[in-house]
Amino acid sequence: MSLAAVDLEVASLIEHERARQRDDLELIASENYVSAAVMEAAGSCLTNKYAEGLPGKRYAGGCEHVDKVEDLARVRAMQLFPGSEGVNVQPHSGAQANGAVYLAALKPGDTLLGLDLSNGGHLTHGSSANSSGKLYRAVHYRVNAQGFIDLDNVREIARAERPRIIVTGASAYPRFWDFAAFRAIADEVGALLLADIAHVAGLVAAGLHPSPFGHCDYVTTTTHKTLRGPRGGMAFAKADLMKGLNSAVFPGSQGGPLMHIIAATAVAFGEALRPNFADYQRQVLQNAQAMAAVLLERGFALVSGGTDNHLMLIDLSEKPYSGKDAEAYLGAAGITVNKNTVPNEKRSPFVTSGIRVGTPAMTTRGLGVAESRQVASWIADALDYGQDADRLARIRAEVHALTTRFPVPG
Ligand SMILES: *Cc1c(COP(=O)(O)O)cnc(C)c1O
Repeated sequence: MSLAAVDLEVASLIEHERARQRDDLELIASENYVSAAVMEAAGSCLTNKYAEGLPGKRYAGGCEHVDKVEDLARVRAMQLFPGSEGVNVQPHSGAQANGAVYLAALKPGDTLLGLDLSNGGHLTHGSSANSSGKLYRAVHYRVNAQGFIDLDNVREIARAERPRIIVTGASAYPRFWDFAAFRAIADEVGALLLADIAHVAGLVAAGLHPSPFGHCDYVTTTTHKTLRGPRGGMAFAKADLMKGLNSAVFPGSQGGPLMHIIAATAVAFGEALRPNFADYQRQVLQNAQAMAAVLLERGFALVSGGTDNHLMLIDLSEKPYSGKDAEAYLGAAGITVNKNTVPNEKRSPFVTSGIRVGTPAMTTRGLGVAESRQVASWIADALDYGQDADRLARIRAEVHALTTRFPVPG
């Protein structure tokens, strides 16, 4: 029986969400649209299967097919990231992947050094609200006044605090990471080095962002952001650290893997290994450059003055409205973004003085540079005239006319 016949309530909510994703413009930097093929694998009968353990070493019978699925996902993951030595594709999310690395690498109370949350870091990089900040002694580095990672600050804190692990990577940082420089600091203080490339993994795979492989002991990522796979996570480690990492994933922190998601990950990685994936990532960057240029022309401040990657942070500190207001204005104009803290934030994390804007999802729909410039001027208009509901409604109509021309995959 179809979902609608069994449960009309949930079915109609899903239809509403489908329409929202189709009609509005998705600029949340961590979101993307998967292909119909990825969606089909994610919705497959593999959700019925228990497969605790690793391929060939499972705790349940009947794993002969899912073993091959997981092997495909692992092999393709390692092909996507040259220099990787081993991978576990079972973490249910990016947060789970980081938790597993910490469980493998740290003892409770050990020191972890990561990027401050309000400077673009992630909750799992030692926030006091997250287990990474409760189980471990977390200390943080920051960006400098120009909005760039301050390597002198990293080195100074590392020398003083002697962390067991240094965490690189961010959720809201628009610039490249210098993994070699972090390796030198980690070596100087005898620390392990983790790169959490949840946001930029697709760019790394396409060779458009420096690769952490060869520099880092561990690399974690989500699979659903720029990599354009199903919602999930994975963790890589140097060969000699893989055994510890595998047991930190299972049985250390998870039970059975989500085999339907791992199958969908394998499909997404198969797609990412095709040449047009690099074309897509190049377009993501060109679109981000085009949007940043228009926003700067229109007098908006961007953290660090621009972007090297798929996202930018509009700094509204000097504006009379907050990030929360801006999110609401843009929402009324059919443009979905998220409010975000900015360096030297004066407002609370629920209000904020910034918004984060990303191009991966709109680029998947096929928007190019001309459309990106148009979208950026709508953003500027919506922010400049946010109090004017009629004006926001007119922008929304134009946004919907544009999105009709660029269908969502599947
Ligand atoms: C998104 C993100 C995560 C967490 O991923 P989830 O799948 O939401 O758990 C971890 N680290 C960074 C840097 C991220 O941006």
